[in-house]
Amino acid sequence: MTSLNETHDPNLRSWIASANDANGDFPIQNLPFGAFKRAGSNEALRGGVAIGDQIVDLAAVHSAGIFDGLAADAALAGSQTTLNALMGMGPATWSALRLALSKALREGSDQQQAMAACLVPQSEAQYGMPAHIGDYTDFYASIHHATNIGKLFRPNNPLLPNYQWIPIGYHGRSSSIVVSGTDFPRPVGQRRSPEGQPPGFGASTRMDYELEVGIFVGGGNELGQPITIDQAEDHIFGLCLLNDWSARDIQAWEYQPLGPFLGKSFASTISPWIITTEALAPYRTAWTRPEDHPQPLPYLESEANRASGGFDVQLEVLIETAQMRDGGQSPQRLSLGNFRHAYWTAAQMLTHHTVNGCNMRPGDFFGSGTMSGPEDGSQGALIELTRGGKEPLTLDNGQERKFLEDGDAIILRGWCQKDGAPRIGFGEARGMVLPARN
Ligand code: CA
Repeated sequence: MTSLNETHDPNLRSWIASANDANGDFPIQNLPFGAFKRAGSNEALRGGVAIGDQIVDLAAVHSAGIFDGLAADAALAGSQTTLNALMGMGPATWSALRLALSKALREGSDQQQAMAACLVPQSEAQYGMPAHIGDYTDFYASIHHATNIGKLFRPNNPLLPNYQWIPIGYHGRSSSIVVSGTDFPRPVGQRRSPEGQPPGFGASTRMDYELEVGIFVGGGNELGQPITIDQAEDHIFGLCLLNDWSARDIQAWEYQPLGPFLGKSFASTISPWIITTEALAPYRTAWTRPEDHPQPLPYLESEANRASGGFDVQLEVLIETAQMRDGGQSPQRLSLGNFRHAYWTAAQMLTHHTVNGCNMRPGDFFGSGTMSGPEDGSQGALIELTRGGKEPLTLDNGQERKFLEDGDAIILRGWCQKDGAPRIGFGEARGMVLPARN
């Protein structure tokens, strides 16, 4: 677990004025990684680091030879079209680059002039996938979501007996993970019909979103060599936002016995910036398990995981309907929750995933599962907010929603904030449902 160091000092200020906005997402204490190029250009994608309203171009930093040692090695790796090579280098190298960036971007840095030549405004950027995701696993780590949704699918048996013992997951589709701003058509498929009837076929009528945290694996492991709970944190590069779009009618018909398939694999949206675990060090929280619940088996248990395995990240979902957009209205909040309520930590997910010898590779990706909290208003999917479509939501402009309609955009936001630490933000993950293709 990363301890606090000089890069977390709340008093640090940058010579980039926009980075000193107390309500901004990207102060000098954040320094998240992504992949970008200038919009509309023929440039290659390359790694970048968000600071205020700017991006530090890692390829330019490398070409200018601004850093040395491990930080220079990291900048070279970060110059590639994806961050997989940087992710594979491990925490000492990530940390060296973070420290070098922090020093170069501080007020009074003698590297200011050289670094200023390596900036690209975020307003001119187009984002790419930050990593080539070889494998994607979606977990199910909110017991509140698992219970809420279990009641809808299996009223008499909402929480299956394995839930409290295993970080439940399924292998998802990485090819359809897209970066924020990518719109997609409503999926078509077989839809569940009332009991005993043949399935319907056509565009999904129960389109939903899922508010999740995305977890990028850093260094991998050899086949047959599990990552232990004590090693797991060193293998996690960072977190982003994930919208696991879900077609509930397709999902309901297909999910037994082998789990989600086409109801999920048409699109999953991530935010462009990966917030490193080092940046999140001030926001680690205790992980607890209610005393009357089963405690984890020993391979999923550690003092460090108990003390600070959780992440205190506020998670917000907003909707922007076509009517809101056309009328110039701001997006409306649908829910507000927090990643700290997860039943399993990221380290436990990674440890469990490899306990059988399964190998991870740099850039592999996990979804946390829909993050619903214990309180009303924190449910991370429409199917929970509308009780399976039975209780439509009435938006402030009078529109009703049971599920998403064409032209609806969903925006996920995340941030960390508390007294004595700088606010750091995740940016946003945005996507819009387009009409189904004929
Ligand atoms: Ca999911």
